[in-house]
Amino acid sequence: MTQRVAVIGAGPSGLAQLRAFQSAARKGASIPEVVCFEKQANWGGLWNYTWRTGTDEHGEPVHGSMYRYLWTNGPKEGLEFADYSFEEHFGRQIASYPPRAVMFDYIEGRVKKAGVRDWIRFSTTVRWVEFNEESDDFTVTVHDLEADHVYKERFDHVIIASGHFSSPNVPEYPGFSQFYGRIVHAHDFRDAREFEGQDVLVVGSSYSAEDVGSQCWKYGAKSVTSCYRSAPMGFNWPDNWEEKPALVRVDGKTAYFRDGTSKHVDSIILCTGYRHHFPFLPDDLRLRTANRLATADLYKGVAYVHNPQLFYLGMQDQWFTFNMFDAQAWYVRDVILGRITMPSDKQALMADVAEREAREEAEDGTKYAILYQGDYVKELIAETDYPSFDVDGACEAFFEWKHHKAEDIMAFRNHSYRSVMTGTIAPPHHTPWKDALDDSMEAYLRN
Ligand code: FAD
Ligand code: NAP
Ligand code: MG
Repeated sequence: MTQRVAVIGAGPSGLAQLRAFQSAARKGASIPEVVCFEKQANWGGLWNYTWRTGTDEHGEPVHGSMYRYLWTNGPKEGLEFADYSFEEHFGRQIASYPPRAVMFDYIEGRVKKAGVRDWIRFSTTVRWVEFNEESDDFTVTVHDLEADHVYKERFDHVIIASGHFSSPNVPEYPGFSQFYGRIVHAHDFRDAREFEGQDVLVVGSSYSAEDVGSQCWKYGAKSVTSCYRSAPMGFNWPDNWEEKPALVRVDGKTAYFRDGTSKHVDSIILCTGYRHHFPFLPDDLRLRTANRLATADLYKGVAYVHNPQLFYLGMQDQWFTFNMFDAQAWYVRDVILGRITMPSDKQALMADVAEREAREEAEDGTKYAILYQGDYVKELIAETDYPSFDVDGACEAFFEWKHHKAEDIMAFRNHSYRSVMTGTIAPPHHTPWKDALDDSMEAYLRN
């Protein structure tokens, strides 16, 4: 009987899995029946922009955390697909930090070419997954939101690609319920123009804090104040951006910080990260991990050690994204196709996880972390037929990016890098990022 594989989510990770199976089939392999369940009406995951916040048209939690005017926060040369370059998609090389709509078009281009849209059941949310000991398979319960119909199907393997930057981590500070203004988590932030003319407070010191604050600055906030719990971001901020230590409380429109200072603020944006959240999984299948490079309980970063017929994609904290998801998807495909044999005893699977954790913890620092994840990508690629590429070259692009950010945080996106897939250097963008207010694909691709 043909094996059946369920893929949960049609974002970059889930789509990588469909492309991986399709590429094996095209080379003559016989592949299982692959069914992908996607709760949104279209593919692309976070890159599929929605203006909605809270609940969607069916009353389901909105997945999207992206916002208007988002440009990639790292160079595209670090994330390029090895089997589908930007040049192949756009017919020429393009600048290095594309806005979201350009990225969506690129992501979609590869899977349109692969012809896998029919494998996806859209507007279908996975409600529950159970493992059946006797039959050694899974029962997946899904809700077809358009037909309003709940049904179950059986699968030999389940691959979870539902993302982990969607369910917000929302702390509360004294005075929040009496604050005279808007308090919003980055997950629900959509349009920086809403904060024009305001004194904005962003809480957090990671990528969302940096970029949401920068958006507000670019689109006319009067001032930006960011505050850190552990360490400041420490960039050379513009004059109307101040970095302060941790928020302690708010009162009316005043925010108080750990160093005893205070500041008038009109709005508060919580850039306090996300949680790995799997409301459709029982205790014995649910991944519990911090947002780190060596995720807990995943052999080779993908196979769930407590039930290796279950896989997770893209659950790591991310320097590498699309091509890492690809490497993972190709690896998982080859395990399912029987081309790769995983150790059969659980101790060996767990030893692999422990080794990855120890190696991650061995050193601090950004450079170490980037090289660590680069090594992981290399390790997986070496075991599959995913086109090998110059991972070290991609790491170099990340190092340059870090350097450019330190130089000028409001200008790093004006730089260009060399593609490790095609060898060409990206052309400069026609307009500096801070002056480019239109984020449409047409505006970006204009010469
Ligand atoms: P997602 O893109 O989150 O896709 C998961 C999919 O699963 C979604 O389509 C969702 O609808 C679906 N799903 C979830 N639950 C269910 C369910 N129960 N049933 C059915 N379907 C379900 N990365 C970069 O490389 N560059 C960037 O510039 C960048 N910017 C980012 C900006 C923001 C604000 C955020 C939050 C992330 C950003 N990322 C960026 C990282 C991002 O995580 C990856 O680029 C990528 O989207 C991850 O792909 P994924 O498929 O793993 O997850
Ligand atoms: P993150 O990297 O996990 O960072 C979470 C931040 O919240 C940290 O600074 C953390 O501080 C802080 N924090 C957590 N709990 C807190 C609390 N109770 N009080 C105060 N601070 C708290 O999450 P993220 O910044 O949202 O980034 C998530 C992903 O989105 C990343 O992959 C990022 O690259 C991506 N992203 C991309 C763009 C883009 O421009 N394309 C924009 C935004 C986000 P500690 O350090 O003290 O833990
Ligand atoms: Mg190889």
